[in-house]
Amino acid sequence: MRFLILSDLHANFEALTAVLTDAESKYDKVVCCGDLVGYNPDPAAIVDWCSGHCAHVVRGNHDKVVAGIDDLEWFNPIAQVSARWTMSQLSQEQLHYLRDIPRGPAVLEHFELFHGTPFDEDEYVLSEKVAGQSLSALQMPLAFFGHTHVQGGFFRQHRRLGIIKAVQLDESEYAIQLEPDLLYMINPGSVGQPRDGDPRAAYALYDSDARLVTLRRVEYPIATTYRKLKSAGLPDALGLRLFNGQ
Ligand code: ZN
Repeated sequence: MRFLILSDLHANFEALTAVLTDAESKYDKVVCCGDLVGYNPDPAAIVDWCSGHCAHVVRGNHDKVVAGIDDLEWFNPIAQVSARWTMSQLSQEQLHYLRDIPRGPAVLEHFELFHGTPFDEDEYVLSEKVAGQSLSALQMPLAFFGHTHVQGGFFRQHRRLGIIKAVQLDESEYAIQLEPDLLYMINPGSVGQPRDGDPRAAYALYDSDARLVTLRRVEYPIATTYRKLKSAGLPDALGLRLFNGQ
């Protein structure tokens, strides 16, 4: 089975469209590590697309806040503005869909999914220490996660912890052949708001027969998203960060 792995779409329709064009005919099923909404100007379109196309989704911290499960006050002021605006843009049905997304980990046939760590969807796996704790808690040898908006991840072989890097800036993909007896935690990167210094939309493909994960990056019309964001009255900083991938 070939999977398209998405995370942190964050209401960026142009980025999702570019990813789907780039990945076309390379996957059979879509899974998502959460954060469908927040920050960018197309929450309704992204929620509708995910509800129609994703086989499995785990909820992210932004989904939780916009759905009213968690409190807004934990967000920084800019994220609060965007969360309030997002709530006003979604129908009752779309809000119900967000509310019903299960929290991770979701343990599936070939891998598991979570947003932050297996313990906490709001925790960031950026250090080797947190990665080590999360790897110890995996229920499958392979997990996909999100939340950091940084493509790459970690693996463990016995006691040795290794780092998986993002696709290089002058490349469009990086393939990882999974080895037996290793544990992997892989972040496909953020579709809608990359923060690893590469503004291109990020995603991953996984072929479970070949045991091959492919990290990919694809350009999208950031200026279009920026224009829509401005005319929606969302904070300028949210648009500017897209150009820098920060
Ligand atoms: Zn996010």
